[in-house]
Amino acid sequence: MFEHVTAYAGDPILGLMDKFANDPRTDIKVNLGVGVYYTEDGKLPVLECVKAAEAIIANPPRPRGYLPMDGLPGYRKACQDLLFGKNSAVVAEGRVATIATLGGSGALKVGADFIHQWFPTAKCYVSNPTWGNHISIFEGAGMEVGKYPYYDPATIGVKFDELCEFFKTLNENDVVLLHPCCHNPTGVDLTREQWDVLLQIVKDQKLIPFMDIAYQGFGEDMDGDAYAIRRAVEMGLPVFVSNSFSKNLSLYGERVGGLSVVSPTKEESDKVHGQLKFTVRRIYSSPPAHGNAVVDIVMNDDKLFTQWVGEVYEMRDRIREMRQKLQDVLSAKLPERDFSYFTKQQGMFSFTGLTAEQVVRLRDEFAVYMVENGRMCIAGLNNANVEYVANAMAEVLK
Ligand code: PMP
Repeated sequence: MFEHVTAYAGDPILGLMDKFANDPRTDIKVNLGVGVYYTEDGKLPVLECVKAAEAIIANPPRPRGYLPMDGLPGYRKACQDLLFGKNSAVVAEGRVATIATLGGSGALKVGADFIHQWFPTAKCYVSNPTWGNHISIFEGAGMEVGKYPYYDPATIGVKFDELCEFFKTLNENDVVLLHPCCHNPTGVDLTREQWDVLLQIVKDQKLIPFMDIAYQGFGEDMDGDAYAIRRAVEMGLPVFVSNSFSKNLSLYGERVGGLSVVSPTKEESDKVHGQLKFTVRRIYSSPPAHGNAVVDIVMNDDKLFTQWVGEVYEMRDRIREMRQKLQDVLSAKLPERDFSYFTKQQGMFSFTGLTAEQVVRLRDEFAVYMVENGRMCIAGLNNANVEYVANAMAEVLK
């Protein structure tokens, strides 16, 4: 019956986590694989603003009816405020259709299904490299996926000229998946000047920008990290935005994200909104209630919102501190090499420049786990392990 079903190779990052869990070297092992923020104590945080919201939800206990297909109105407004800015003109004009989704992944899936249905010949282009699931999700929706030049190992920067030239070869309505901030996996972002140039090409070529923002607040700040999105809107582009609250609310398992589509007119936007709801209806019907309620409460209460932003910036600043420490120890150990890229990169991830061989040595000899492409999750570092990790890296780099 199922003989023809092929084996699933497993997800490389989640597979690595199993290996880590089974590693008996409990006194020294360090997990820098999965993209999760850990505190200085190595714990997954429960944010204070989330605790406050959950206290409200629990007292009195709320009935758990179905949510609307597109989620709670306050949740959708929260996504719009964060992405497009409070009092944004495009939102006031009724040109943004926003739905709550099952995490950022759910937003990508609903967006990809929608695009494939209404633009059946459109291809999707992702950065080389990108988060692996981008490719799986768009291919899973039936789209052909290609890669655009992005990371340059020679400079640990962006191949910007090649990237621009490549975009000029794409066809009308091709989708370009962009990371507005904290690029996963490299940590290497475009400057504002580069965004301005690239988005003009997107406009000239009539491409569809799909902005995937999973780390808002971890790069520059809440508004700065949304620069590319707001610039694209200002330029009059149609835009898809998938956002995730997994990291910045530390609500990974609650599956909280959103999809927003910016249309040229309100009429189009209303139709798009309806079709997004239908897309949700036929995949999973409606989003989860708890995460929707938490986001709604935190984001629409001035005090909790301010507290939340402060908590995100604490996470951001701790990551920056770890980047600096890693850079300092490595620079002292190997003064002939330039490690300044650690503090130039943004967000939870860093492309360390380590080869697959060096990554395997780190794991086997030092119990330091990172993804084989050399991606390190900086948020797994803390004052207790950063020197150990830096010294181990220096050993394998010698
Ligand atoms: N986009 C990017 C770039 C990501 O890194 C992630 C999470 N690893 C997601 C989307 C998906 O986020 P979620 O866990 O909310 O589905």
